Amino acid sequence: MITAADETLLRRAIDIAAAAVAGGDAPYGSLLAGPDGTVLAEAHNTVRRDNDISAHPELKLARWAARELDAETAARTTLYTSCQPCGMCGGGIVRSGIGRVVYALSTEQLMELNPQSGEWPAVAQEGPALLEEARTPIEAYYGPR
Ligand SMILES: [Zn+2]
Repeated sequence: MITAADETLLRRAIDIAAAAVAGGDAPYGSLLAGPDGTVLAEAHNTVRRDNDISAHPELKLARWAARELDAETAARTTLYTSCQPCGMCGGGIVRSGIGRVVYALSTEQLMELNPQSGEWPAVAQEGPALLEEARTPIEAYYGPR
C-alpha cells in the first residue's frame, strides 16, 4: 500500500527526473530511503552522459546499497523511482537486498508515452553445453555436489 509519506518521497524521485531532463539527461530519477523516510542516496539516469548502458538510477542505488549497507539495513530501505524498474535494475535490486520498491509510472504507462522506452526483448541464448568442463570452477569454489 502506498501511503502519503510514500507519495512525498515519490514526488522527490519525479523531481530528480525533471532535474535530469533540465541537465540534458534522460528523464528518470530515484532515491533510496530508510525506514523513517530519511533519504540515504539519490540518483538519475546518466546513460548518455557516461556512455554506460548500466547507468540507470535504480541500478546505481542498488549497487550503492550493496556496497554501503549491511543486509539487515538494506532490507529496511525503500527505493522510490519515477518509473518502474527495468529487468536489468530489477535483478540488481534483488541482489542488493533492498526491501521494497515504490514507482510512479508503470512500464506500460511509460511505453504509452514513449513506445521506445521499456522494451526488453529476450536475448537469444544457446545452452547448456560442456557441463563437465563448466562445473569444474563452480565446484572448485562451492565444493562438489
Ligand atoms: Zn533500469
